[in-house]
Amino acid sequence: MSENSNKVAIVTGASRGIGAAIAERLARNGMTVVINYAGSVGPAEELAALIEKAGGKALTAQADVSDPAAVARMFDAVEAAFGGIDVLVNNAGIMKLATIADGDDTLVDSEIAINLKGSLNTMREAARRLRDGGRIINLSSSVVGLYQPTYGVYAATKAAIEAVTHVLSKELRGRNITVNAVAPGPTATALFLDGKPQAVIDQLAKLAPLERLGQPEDIASAVAFLAGPDGSWINGQILRSNGGIV
Ligand code: NAP
Repeated sequence: MSENSNKVAIVTGASRGIGAAIAERLARNGMTVVINYAGSVGPAEELAALIEKAGGKALTAQADVSDPAAVARMFDAVEAAFGGIDVLVNNAGIMKLATIADGDDTLVDSEIAINLKGSLNTMREAARRLRDGGRIINLSSSVVGLYQPTYGVYAATKAAIEAVTHVLSKELRGRNITVNAVAPGPTATALFLDGKPQAVIDQLAKLAPLERLGQPEDIASAVAFLAGPDGSWINGQILRSNGGIV
């Protein structure tokens, strides 16, 4: 039996992209996974079926992470179904790009609501409920170190998440719970690819010395390390998983 057996992990925004790869990987490593999503019920159900077919255990859970009541209901449902929660991966996020001059209120409010408040909503529940020995892994971004134009609001939400990661790792003293963040670089998902001309994608892919885009599975490997037994001594850290871009 794997060391991850009987561990229950909630992965937010797991219907697509990096979150789906994380859910699939944690399930393959023996964890029971909760596939949270906002609207993509079809892809979430398909992923759960895929995991079950491979011998894993998965549950889907619709909840807009920006809604604290919906998040609390999701945690209630997971505790009722599995008896407890060990791992939270805060992956749900959006990215809207504009210069500070051009960014409107909708852009600012939505990124703060989902990327920052959404993660705070789930961290609050996890801080109250995670079983001893648990893990919290937040998704930041390497834009926190790159400072490219148009990424201001998005980078600000991720920098805030990194700050909270450090604070929460100290607040949970005494429970053997680690809190870390993984900060991907450009990764081949809809969030990164949509709306970008191929020339821009090619240029960004070449930025890292490893000269390719990250794949969702690259990021899932880093998260799985922090979530599993090998990551047990890593706490309050930001792991940039980006091929060396910054
Ligand atoms: P993605 O392909 O656009 O997928 C986003 C996921 O988040 C979807 O499953 C979506 O669910 C979910 N989601 C969005 N809003 C939500 C909400 N309010 N409540 C619950 N779930 C919500 O994005 P991704 O590229 O995989 O990004 C995942 C994380 O990595 C994000 O935090 C992102 O900031 C970070 N990241 C990505 C990159 C990159 O280059 N891709 C780089 C650095 C960091 P629905 O399908 O239901 O909408």
